[in-house]
This record gives sequence, structure tokens and C-alpha cells, in this order.
Amino acid sequence: MNSSDFAKRYVSFYKELKTWKNIKVIPEVKKRVIRFAKETRKRKEEEIRIEKEQRRKLEEYQRKSRIAEGRCQYCGGKFSFFGKTCKNCGRKKDY
Ligand SMILES: [Zn+2]
Repeated sequence: MNSSDFAKRYVSFYKELKTWKNIKVIPEVKKRVIRFAKETRKRKEEEIRIEKEQRRKLEEYQRKSRIAEGRCQYCGGKFSFFGKTCKNCGRKKDY
């Protein structure tokens, strides 16, 4: 390798290094990372929201079907014949 080849390689390497260190690249990458984190969090929140909604619907359905069957809406237990309280959890029949 003669000195001019060395100089060329050095220059090209130096240019590449400058590209990697380019200050404009860093905020762009940072922006992308932040955007990704936000999207991930949003998706997670959306999943939690859907899960809650599904659980709420299930509970609502369970409650309605228990009422329809004349059972305690909270635990599905049977009511005592005279007291009108749940034999299982002791709550009053409130519907
Ligand atoms: Zn009950």
C-alpha cells in the first residue's frame, strides 16, 4: 500500500465515520424509538381496554343470566326460601 492509497482509504473511512456520527441521524433514531415506544404503549393500553370491556360484558351477561335463573346476581347462589338472602354469600335479593 503506497501513501496515496492509504490517504484514500483514510478519507473514505473518515467519511463513513462522520456519517455514523452525523448529529442529524441521532435525533431521527431517537424520534423513531420514542414513536415506537408510544405506539407500543398505545397498543398495550388498547389491549387492556378491550380486555376490561370483554370482562365487563361477561360479568354483565353472567349477572343477567343469574337474575333470569332467580339466583344471587353476585355469586350465583340460591336464595333462602323465607329470608330472601343468598345462602352462599348472604346478600339480599335486590332485584
Ligand atoms: Zn350470593
